[in-house]
Amino acid sequence: MRDILIENRIPEIIGFFDRSESMTKQDEGITQIKKSKALSNFGIASVLIVLGALASIYGIADVFGGKKLPMGVLFLIGGPIMAFGGVYMVFSSLGRAATAAQVRFETDLEQLCRAFYSNVFCKKTTDFGSKDDQIVDVSQFIPVPVLEDYRKSGWGTLIGKRKPRSGGQPVECAQCDKKSEHSETHYSSIPISTKYREEFRHEEPAETQNLIKNLYLKCQGCSSVICYECLAYSAPKTQRFLCPVCGKATNGWDGLASRWMNLRYSKTDQDVDFSLSSVVVDKVPRSDARIVDVTITLSGTPFGKLTLANVAFHIDDKWFLASPEPILG
Ligand SMILES: [Zn+2]
Ligand SMILES: [Zn+2]
Repeated sequence: MRDILIENRIPEIIGFFDRSESMTKQDEGITQIKKSKALSNFGIASVLIVLGALASIYGIADVFGGKKLPMGVLFLIGGPIMAFGGVYMVFSSLGRAATAAQVRFETDLEQLCRAFYSNVFCKKTTDFGSKDDQIVDVSQFIPVPVLEDYRKSGWGTLIGKRKPRSGGQPVECAQCDKKSEHSETHYSSIPISTKYREEFRHEEPAETQNLIKNLYLKCQGCSSVICYECLAYSAPKTQRFLCPVCGKATNGWDGLASRWMNLRYSKTDQDVDFSLSSVVVDKVPRSDARIVDVTITLSGTPFGKLTLANVAFHIDDKWFLASPEPILG
């Protein structure tokens, strides 16, 4: 997997940095990614405020308005909490959007690894923030062409059918050889998220379980077709929803965040900030001296030790990492 996630990207990344205006492109790209991510939180925040206000009104009508409404007290308590949570998110999103243009690249590889991995691995998911926000905070260390894969849906959905329909094409999983006829028109808007997680698969209604069995995903990077079971359940948790053929299809920021969370949970189930005692970076330059294989060893509590692999790029005295994914070394 390491070969695919990193090696397939190296020529593309070098090609990107070879262009004369690459640092400007990197700067502008990161600003845009940070802004759009901050403003996407804005939408959720607005929904929270509206729902919180409605719940508060309902609660007030019950408790003070003399109307007997079911669970009014609960709404009176929960409504304002939701609304204030929304207001907090609005301000933090505005803050993030306002500082999006302050992009600073790192000239020291050790510092970069410390900043990047302590954000994406060591910080707990705070109450109103999320893991994907923490990753976006340090996204300036990753080349923009790689980050673009987290902004779009990298997978097209295909539904397998037992009997051929008109226009149906047979599909076959490139991993496990499962095959069936498919129809592209049905359920084409299925959102691919982590909601069909392995742990809850048996709790899904029969219809969803059936859908999972007959769902195939087509990589929009290399056109490989992989069945949902191979992609969502049988790969190691830190590789789920990444195209096993080209490494380019992802399931967005949420998916990246959940792969990092899975790695955290494999070390401890405590949702606390991890404290780092040391970050050791081993470097092995390749024949092109701009490309360096790096092994990052993080030590600290309560997780012990974690060894990660990546490739670093040394361009114009600045350092970048090839992948934001948790790739174990
Ligand atoms: Zn399969
Ligand atoms: Zn692919």
